[in-house]
Amino acid sequence: ARIPIRRALLSVSDKTGVADLARRLSAAGVELVSTGGTARLLRDEGLAVRDVSDLTGFPEVMDGRVKTLHPGVHGGLLADRSKPEHLSAMEAHGIAPIDLLVVNLYPFERALASGADDATMVENIDIGGPAMIRAAAKNHALVAVVTDPEDYEVILGAIGNGGTSLEERRRLAGIAYGRTAQYDQMIATWFAKQAGEAPRRIGMAGRLAQTLRYGENPHQDAAAYTDGTNRPGVLTAEQVQGKALSYNNLNDTDAAYELVAELPRDRAAVAIIKHANPCGAAVGATIAEAYEAALRCDPVSAFGGIVALNRPLDGPTAEMITGIFTEVVIAPGADEAARAAFAKKKNLRLLVTDALPDPDQHGMLLKPIAGGFLFQDKDTRRVSADELKVVTKRQPTDEEMADLLFAFTIAKHVKSNAIVYAKNGSTVGVGAGQMSRLDSTRIAAIKSEDAALASKLKEPLVKGSVVASDAFFPFADGLLAAAAAGATAVIQPGGSIRDDEVIEAADKEGLAMVFTGVRHFRH
Ligand code: 5GP
Repeated sequence: ARIPIRRALLSVSDKTGVADLARRLSAAGVELVSTGGTARLLRDEGLAVRDVSDLTGFPEVMDGRVKTLHPGVHGGLLADRSKPEHLSAMEAHGIAPIDLLVVNLYPFERALASGADDATMVENIDIGGPAMIRAAAKNHALVAVVTDPEDYEVILGAIGNGGTSLEERRRLAGIAYGRTAQYDQMIATWFAKQAGEAPRRIGMAGRLAQTLRYGENPHQDAAAYTDGTNRPGVLTAEQVQGKALSYNNLNDTDAAYELVAELPRDRAAVAIIKHANPCGAAVGATIAEAYEAALRCDPVSAFGGIVALNRPLDGPTAEMITGIFTEVVIAPGADEAARAAFAKKKNLRLLVTDALPDPDQHGMLLKPIAGGFLFQDKDTRRVSADELKVVTKRQPTDEEMADLLFAFTIAKHVKSNAIVYAKNGSTVGVGAGQMSRLDSTRIAAIKSEDAALASKLKEPLVKGSVVASDAFFPFADGLLAAAAAGATAVIQPGGSIRDDEVIEAADKEGLAMVFTGVRHFRH
């Protein structure tokens, strides 16, 4: 049955759209009740609002920690008006029924993402909000509960339609419990982190961003979710043009943007990604220069690739990108000339963000396995020059040193076993995802030789390059293969029981080698 809305309680932290909703409710004769900040906003809009303290006969106290936690509110939300006993309790205690609850919670997720101190985090734990949401949702037979500005529409539709339907209230109740569950999940994870423990129980904390046409393959259903942190990236980007993003586009674009975000900010940087692995990445004086260098690494694989930039896209670079089939371009901006150049390629997706992802921002990674899932921190570790230990007789030159650090950063973003050759701030060979490190080392070199043939270069770009390995060389063979391909310096974690053999081989070949002490597996 439809339940007309006579009295609504509004208490929101995210004030998006609430004034509009309240105005329409008020115009329909609905009595508005509200908490401090929300009431103030609505009064500023010229609306008549009752304070919650009017309903409870109790002031808001303790910095807002206690505002709505009162039988005057919870009785109004929980009363089953089909029961005479409930009605008489309302009568006896002067409890007014509430037909609509509009609440969204203190922004705990935002506070977490902004790295707020402990006291601020604790203050951002909403108490009264979740209590009201859960009460109203339990009593969905009579009460509609809205926890998301996206659903204000449902209420606006109900106003002129005799009230909310049971189906609507049921759906909203489900959304409401999903919200409080997610909210407490975030808090639980934060507490566990404080205690240095794995959270006892975890679930997925996400909000539906878009349902996708399909997953990795057409027979798989899929959807994308945001986690409330608003981290700059593919999910917060504005899509300027092009077809809708697919599951694989989202996955690859994310990998591409995370990679360029980690390259030195004082240089222009470009990454080209295929199947979540870079087939080229480079830094340069300009974006155009960096793109050209990144493309040179493996122009065949770059076909149908995803391109990420660490600077706004400009006209010359956009023209170059349209020269080969490209699926997605993501950048922190795009100028007029770039937009004009892309407008000719209707299917090419252009994504623009306000900022680059912050590579130091913590995050969590979930990987499902049979009967459960694995949970780990995002790999935010970055190796700096002063952590490197030279283990060979020869020291790396300054140029080699810069390329070694660059190559190791790229290797962190390549599926293991990862081998990355680099020269002059550009990858010149990438070996990804092999079961043997030796194979990754060889494949990267072979690809570089192929690229040289295709581009009619005199010699492959790997000649005179440096090489990075995401984990230690277990034997000397991989290192020798890299030396044979033309690498002159090596960066790797070290830590193998055969390190001595590997160092000896490097010395024999006249290579310079540094150990990072840090491993960057990625699967
Ligand atoms: P306002 O801006 O209206 O002052 O506050 C709105 C926020 O207060 C909402 O996010 C709502 O969930 C929260 N809230 C409502 N009642 C209580 C309460 O009794 N205790 C706490 N801690 N938060 C409440």
